[in-house]
Amino acid sequence: MKALDLAKPGQRLSVLCLGAHSDDIEIGAGGMILQWIASGIELDIHWCVLSATGVRAHEAETSAAAFLAGASRTRITLAHFRDGFFPYQGSDIKPFLEDLRRGMNPDIVLTHRADDAHQDHREVSRLTWNTFRDHLVLEYEIPKWDGDLGRPNVYVPLQDGILERKIELLLAHFGTQRSKDWFDAETFRGLSRLRGMECRSVSRYAEAFFAKKVILG
Ligand SMILES: [Zn+2]
Repeated sequence: MKALDLAKPGQRLSVLCLGAHSDDIEIGAGGMILQWIASGIELDIHWCVLSATGVRAHEAETSAAAFLAGASRTRITLAHFRDGFFPYQGSDIKPFLEDLRRGMNPDIVLTHRADDAHQDHREVSRLTWNTFRDHLVLEYEIPKWDGDLGRPNVYVPLQDGILERKIELLLAHFGTQRSKDWFDAETFRGLSRLRGMECRSVSRYAEAFFAKKVILG
């Protein structure tokens, strides 16, 4: 199947990344972001974690800096909404996202999946669609105990070495997640292998996303 490029090496691509917690963007879209930078795309990226306090704020900051090394322009915003209670904070999260929209007009918005089993993830997704109504929005996936994985419709085959770099950074930066028995290299490699199989990735690995509306130029 012919692959559509969002940008070519040397071209600018502006991206807004939204994640509820400090490891979400990295797990869902870290490989695609590393690959954009490695391929020479001039990435202008605003990385926003909505619940990052204490040790998780430090993790979010150092991890984002590592994933974004080599990007043309980066901005990292760490907010302090209460972990686990996003559905009850919608009236505060909505104006926060509207402020972000007023500050930039991204080519792509990366957000959580609408059908994600985690209530914070679902709320971020709902308010993303509610706020960025005239944008290309790609929803990323997060494996979890609930077994909520779906059927994606957008694939990004990862080039050799990208997945290993993503896993290396995830394991290096998220000490608080090590108590979760799912947070390991095998989970990340296994899901990426399945997505790579589905899109016939040459490297065998891929990340997958969910798009509701795409306009072809
Ligand atoms: Zn999360």
